[in-house]
Amino acid sequence: MTVVLNSENIHVQIPPRSPEFQRTDKERFTILCPQMAPIHFALCSGIFRQCGYNVVVLPTINRETIEEGLRYVNNDVCYPAIIVVGQLIQALKSGRYDPARTALLISQTCGGCRSTNYATFLKIAVNKAGFPDVPVIPFQVNFTNDNNKGLFLPLFALKKLFLAFLYGDLLMNLANRCRPYEKNRGEVDVLVQVWVEKLQTEIMTNKYGNVSKTASVIVNDFDALDLQTECKPKVGIVGEILVKYHPGANNNLVSLIEQEGGEAVVPNILDFALYCLTSGDHCKRFAPVSFLSMLKSRIAVWFIERQRDKVRKVLRQHKRFSSFGNIHHLAEQAKRFVSICNQTGEGWLLTGEMAELLEEETLNIICVQPFGCLPNHITGKGVMKELRSHYCGANISTLDYDPGATEVNQLNRIKLLMATALRRNSFNGKSTNK
Ligand code: SF4
Repeated sequence: MTVVLNSENIHVQIPPRSPEFQRTDKERFTILCPQMAPIHFALCSGIFRQCGYNVVVLPTINRETIEEGLRYVNNDVCYPAIIVVGQLIQALKSGRYDPARTALLISQTCGGCRSTNYATFLKIAVNKAGFPDVPVIPFQVNFTNDNNKGLFLPLFALKKLFLAFLYGDLLMNLANRCRPYEKNRGEVDVLVQVWVEKLQTEIMTNKYGNVSKTASVIVNDFDALDLQTECKPKVGIVGEILVKYHPGANNNLVSLIEQEGGEAVVPNILDFALYCLTSGDHCKRFAPVSFLSMLKSRIAVWFIERQRDKVRKVLRQHKRFSSFGNIHHLAEQAKRFVSICNQTGEGWLLTGEMAELLEEETLNIICVQPFGCLPNHITGKGVMKELRSHYCGANISTLDYDPGATEVNQLNRIKLLMATALRRNSFNGKSTNK
């Protein structure tokens, strides 16, 4: 149920019923999925196909996507909701997909903020746009969901999804570490593309025993690139998940940082999955969860961290690259500033990522936040003063994103942050990048 407020009345809007996606629909239907992280999602789509689902990850967004979202979602709703709804409605209207054989996939985190309502927003939008028979499939990371029985992923597929995200995180980190220093422009992105294609096949074979070997070959390939040896200031990017990873949603923030002379450091997406999986454990004193659900989450966390250990071991052998964090360590970092029962939106993870970046001497941080994002204001903006007093030299700035935010304003803030970062970098003297 959605409550709509305007100056005169309070309307209680009952969301329309969306047809349920049945297991038997999977052979006939195309499932459209909004884009979030281009490298990671490119590695995932084959896994759904292997399970018999024809999932199409929509390409990037444009101004028309935002306009389409605004036609069906009120502009005081979170920017990410406007983007994902706009993308899916735009695809439905494009005529490329038969509405009678199309379903829409949308993530649902079931927290205390509007992320819980994305599926409802989409159902209302789909109806208003004239596609009432198109099923909406909510998809959750944790194991408590029983809304999407039609989209069933067996354990082997879930394991492959985690593998895809593990390699996605590795490629994203290596690319961000090397791209600002490349001597031959475009070389890093070509190497990423080569590895995305190789990994699409490798992930299908589900060889967990290969993680160390594959990670080692990938890291060696990036380490062998001919790069400049100067040292640029590192700029961490934290914040709301979609705006953080989707280049279309954050107006190509990584490229802007690189153009301004910095090196972007983007924390891993798997940390968000692990944050969701550990949430029950952290809050069990106040909100008990079933033993079975907690056991499943603990096993998943153990399994993922075990695979990440293999990648950490490889990364530690290369001086150029930093290792991956650990979710328990991130929680410890966050605990110093906020309660880890803050689990709405990015919750304590946001504080934990900033503290971890500062510990690793990435003193420049941009916190990206959709306008009016309450969790970001508490565990992002709300802890900045405290972080600045703990870490001398912390250069933290926020960037707001909403449909009306101009790129000029964002660019000015980035330039301001970069001016301080570059000044300190030159003051400290240029050290070697190797
Ligand atoms: S985390 Fe922020 S942007 Fe995302 S749904 Fe919640 S309030 Fe909206």
